[in-house]
Amino acid sequence: MEIEIATIGGYEEVGRQMTAVRAGDDIVVFDMGLNLSKVLIHDNIRTEEMRSLDLIDMGAIPDDRVMSELDGEVQAIVPTHGHLDHIGAISKLAHRYDAPIVATPFTRELVDEEVHDESEYVVNNDLISMEAGESMQIGERCELEFVNVTHSIIDAINPVLHTPEGSVVYGLDKRVDHTPVIGDPIDMKRFREIGREDGGVLCYIEDCTNANRKGRTPSEAVARRQLRDVMRSIEDWDGGIVATTFSSHIARVKSIVEFAQDIGREPVLLGRSMEQYSGTAARLDGLDIGFPDDLGMYGHRKSVDRAFKRIMNEGKEKFLPVVTGHQGEPRAMLTRMGRGETPFELTDGDKVIFSARVIPEPTNEGQRYQSEKLLGMQGARIYDDVHVSGHLRQEGHYQMLDALQPQHVIPAHQDMKGFSGYVDLAGNKGYDLGRDLHVTSNGNTIQLV
Ligand SMILES: [Zn+2]
Repeated sequence: MEIEIATIGGYEEVGRQMTAVRAGDDIVVFDMGLNLSKVLIHDNIRTEEMRSLDLIDMGAIPDDRVMSELDGEVQAIVPTHGHLDHIGAISKLAHRYDAPIVATPFTRELVDEEVHDESEYVVNNDLISMEAGESMQIGERCELEFVNVTHSIIDAINPVLHTPEGSVVYGLDKRVDHTPVIGDPIDMKRFREIGREDGGVLCYIEDCTNANRKGRTPSEAVARRQLRDVMRSIEDWDGGIVATTFSSHIARVKSIVEFAQDIGREPVLLGRSMEQYSGTAARLDGLDIGFPDDLGMYGHRKSVDRAFKRIMNEGKEKFLPVVTGHQGEPRAMLTRMGRGETPFELTDGDKVIFSARVIPEPTNEGQRYQSEKLLGMQGARIYDDVHVSGHLRQEGHYQMLDALQPQHVIPAHQDMKGFSGYVDLAGNKGYDLGRDLHVTSNGNTIQLV
């Protein structure tokens, strides 16, 4: 059986991920993501109203025209998790394929919302839920399996396409976490089994976000301990405490919510995306995230302002707003608070906790600098970097190669500079550039069998 990989997007950047695997006549597409930084750099762009080709030209979504070079039928579109760089282009591209979208329940829900907000295209693809540990038939001779992994969003999986020539393991995105705050640990046992099955692993496509970083990415339990330490240390402060993190990072939001209650404050989630992700997670049956039943979440401008007014009336020292704006995004809640545009008045000594790292990119760095300055001008004290990454570092990569023992590896989710650490590591494991270690770029195909 011929096996071919098309590296469509996310092989020259972190963002707009898309990869297709053809096994004989059947094709499975992994991820259809957005490169948000290519959108945000322009003022006032509404992607909901934009055409696919214009977004492709901007570099915002994958250029899937290479799909016409693959001789087969798309059987499934498989987003690995709900981050926008993995699902954000589904609303622009999925309608071109006569195939269902298969995802875990939380990811499926987020895709559903994404598709619903789209105004340019009608996306009629079936949305199918499949849990980690489950499989489905692809064509006559292949099987698609979801293996549970741990990442900075809940319900993440690594899909595995079992073919007669061996398995293709799509490794985006994860870290090796044995103590995630929500959900099961990464299923390393299953990865080791897959590596030792008949035929073994033909190809492994790897998340190289942190491939240039030594050591091991700590568990979410470590970020939780850091948060507890910071929040206990300011327990006696009788003014305002505000926290911000990635809205999609439900486990982190949960930790902040719990420690807010521990120090006698009422947590309130504020901001459009904060309300969207946490609301979706709380509504989903079967996802036991453990939010308090009466947790307040407000997304619309008016309800946010009402919540802020209530906080100011009843006393800032009784609440802990969890807000958007960890990267200093100009329109996010924390930045607006810094500019004095909300009813929440920051005063000397108020605390702001950034449970996030600045994404190392000039736009983010500039905006975050500005946001911190604005907050500082109002007297706020900043606690930053209370965070651990959701992506493997080098020792995690080593462990994955050891578990899977793939014949071929393809580094992804980075640019050439970002791949270098992985090329080094795989080289030390006996892989050769051009032979079984394939550093590639967007829009290429690699014929493995
Ligand atoms: Zn991700």
